[in-house]
This record gives sequence, structure tokens and C-alpha cells, in this order.
Amino acid sequence: MAGDLITKLARMEQIKRAKPAYRNLLDFYEKIFIAKEEFYQSLKSLPIVFDEPGVQTRFKAGFPVLDKGAIELDSGTLERFFRTLLQISLEKNPDTAGKLHAFIKKGNLDVGNTIKAMWEGKIPSPRGGKEELGDPTLLFFLLNESLKPFYEYLAEKLQAVIDVTLWEKGYCPICGETPSIAAITEGKWSRHLFCVYCGTEWPFPFLMCPFCGNEEEKGVTYLYVKNEKQYRLEVCQACQKYLKAVDIECIGSPVPLEVENLATLHLDILAQREGYGRGAHYPLLI
Ligand SMILES: [Zn+2]
Ligand SMILES: [Zn+2]
Repeated sequence: MAGDLITKLARMEQIKRAKPAYRNLLDFYEKIFIAKEEFYQSLKSLPIVFDEPGVQTRFKAGFPVLDKGAIELDSGTLERFFRTLLQISLEKNPDTAGKLHAFIKKGNLDVGNTIKAMWEGKIPSPRGGKEELGDPTLLFFLLNESLKPFYEYLAEKLQAVIDVTLWEKGYCPICGETPSIAAITEGKWSRHLFCVYCGTEWPFPFLMCPFCGNEEEKGVTYLYVKNEKQYRLEVCQACQKYLKAVDIECIGSPVPLEVENLATLHLDILAQREGYGRGAHYPLLI
């Protein structure tokens, strides 16, 4: 997986100590991360064969290399994993997750097929009972999380076939999603974008907006939060979208960006309050 579990859990502990306001949220994510790791390990027995020349051709043409149509998902396995994640959510938030649980139990949603449809790029639409479900954020979050170990497993296999340092596009070379967070590497004049879906990290021109390609002087500006020099928001004046960034030199050593993405939800709130939109599609569970 993108960064090993022990590193992620250790960083979560560090953040919980430094920012007690994140304790509840990270306690929840710790359980989610452990469940995802188990599922990820079980995927290793899956025989996956890629059409390597096809992967190279897509990469050179600037298309994300993951050919989802060529991979058959086992909806039963994914549904079981979704239910494991839902169970964890029930412990954290019995009200919201309880509503979702009841909603599914009534037959409003075929979980396995919905996850399959998402894999194919379709936006799921429950059969009925939308009022009963209320806010669908948790549902979308769990559907995405159910697919994530699979994305990460495939991404690791594909990263071995291509050279992501040659990509230089604002979307993920593996799965095509837009980044949630960037790492400013040592020396401050380079940065890596991070895809929360599949865990891929790739270098990107320093001053360019990954969402619209804007690189005019003063086109991208930075917002900082008091006492947090290690984080910043990069906001684009052309497309009004924002990207979160972590200064690795300031932190002192590399950190798992999947965890940093969670530990900076206050920056998402700030950016959205300032009128900027998220560049990434991955649902946030705040
Ligand atoms: Zn990706
Ligand atoms: Zn932009």
C-alpha cells in the first residue's frame, strides 16, 4: 500500500498528540486503515495481468494507464468489505451510519453492483428512500473506501511498468483522478502531487495549477494558517480551486500524504469558506 500501515499509524499518533481536536476522527480512521490493509493483503492472491505495450502507449499519449474495463471486479468480495467499513462507522457514529444501514437493509441499494458501477465511472443513484438516507456523504465515502485497496494494489503493479517522473500532468498517471494534496520536497522548488484514490505520487511543475494548467505570475497564491508553517493552501485565481500542500523540509522527514490529507481537514474548511472549490473528487468525511 502507499506507505506502510505502521508508518501511517505512527504519524496518526503524532498528530493526535499535537492536535487533540483530531483525536476522534483519527481514532476512526485508524480502524478504517487497519481494515483496508487486511483487504489489501487478501488482494495479493489475485492474478492480474496487464497488457504492457498497451500501458506504455496510453502513458505516452497522456492517458491514465489503468484500463478499468479490462479488470473484472468481484462484487461479493467488495460488498463484504463495504459492510466491514460500515460496521466501523456504526461504532463511531451510530446515528448517521445507522440510517445508512437501515437504508441498505430495506433494499434501496445493491451495494456490490453500486461499487461495480462506480468502478466503471458511473455515479450511483439509490433506488429510493433518499429522504430516509439524508446526507449521502457517508455512503459515497464508504463506496470509495471500498475500492481504494483495489486501486492501490493495481497502482503499485502499474507503477513498476511506467516512469511517473515523466508524466508532468495535473491528473494521476494511473487512475486519472485529480490530486488532493501535494508534498513540497526538499529545496522547496519542486513538488509532488498525490492521488488519494490509488496512492500514486508524481512530480509536477512548481507554480502551475494542476486543475487548469494556469501558470501565470500571481495566478496561484498561497494561504497559511497561523502556527502551521508546514502546511499551506495553494489557491488558483483562474479556476478558483485549491490544493493542500505539505512542506516536507519543515516537518523534517517524509510523511504519509494520505494521513496528512486527513490531518488538514481544517484547511479544506478554510478554503471552502474563502470561496474556493476542491480540485479533487474524493469525498471528505469531516
Ligand atoms: Zn490515482
Ligand atoms: Zn487553476
